[in-house]
Amino acid sequence: MALLSIENVCVSYDKVEAVHNVSLSIEAGQIVTVIGPNGAGKTTLMMAIIGLLKSTGRMEYLGQDLSRLEVESRVGQGLCLVPEKRELFHDMSVYDNLILGSYSRQDRSQVPQDLDGVFDRFPRLKERRSQMAGTLSGGERQMLALGRALMSRPKLLMLDEPSLGLAPLIVREIFRTIASLRETGVSILLVEQNARAALETADYGYVIETGEIVQSGPANTLIHDEKLIAAYLGGH
Ligand code: ATP
Repeated sequence: MALLSIENVCVSYDKVEAVHNVSLSIEAGQIVTVIGPNGAGKTTLMMAIIGLLKSTGRMEYLGQDLSRLEVESRVGQGLCLVPEKRELFHDMSVYDNLILGSYSRQDRSQVPQDLDGVFDRFPRLKERRSQMAGTLSGGERQMLALGRALMSRPKLLMLDEPSLGLAPLIVREIFRTIASLRETGVSILLVEQNARAALETADYGYVIETGEIVQSGPANTLIHDEKLIAAYLGGH
């Protein structure tokens, strides 16, 4: 059974449809990427999955109909969205931001252990644990946004353009971290304009253009597709 399976999902802003008949599925432990240009509907799709936007069609998560669950219940059941803007509590420390990430979970006794796990994964956050989040660099903010999400012990982590605006070295570090999350058993839906890095990291990929899925396949096949290379992968 897929962890998340969506079928013929449509999302509209007033009368304008931004996502049209999208179907996709994510197996437990898989990294799935949705790649596509600006305005293709990637953020809209993730907002609908977490329940912040209304949608039509079918969405099943852990075998249950998602449309019956409010946003809070979806989060409580392990759905977690890291938005593109990496919204943090700027006037709070790195440590406090991480602790806030654990508020949705029941098993409080494991929080210190998970905090150690996040600090092991991101030594830079450990060094800066008392620093205010608002003073972090772009890459450190992305690390903190990821770390805070991990503190909720997600089953499905949805990442909206984690590489946006970051220097190439930091982008590589962020994608290495995303790939390493596989060992924790978390499933990942990765939405990206940086198609090459996303396909190198993912197991399976979907290409979205003007709200519709136009292509899909194993990531290691898509990365060699000539049409895709010409459109999204810089022609190499
Ligand atoms: P990007 O990579 O630039 O973030 P995206 O693929 O995430 O783009 P969306 O942000 O989902 O694309 O936008 C899809 C379409 O919906 C776009 O045409 C956008 O202009 C439109 N849209 C997004 N948000 C709204 C809104 N609040 N009201 C009306 N239209 C919107």
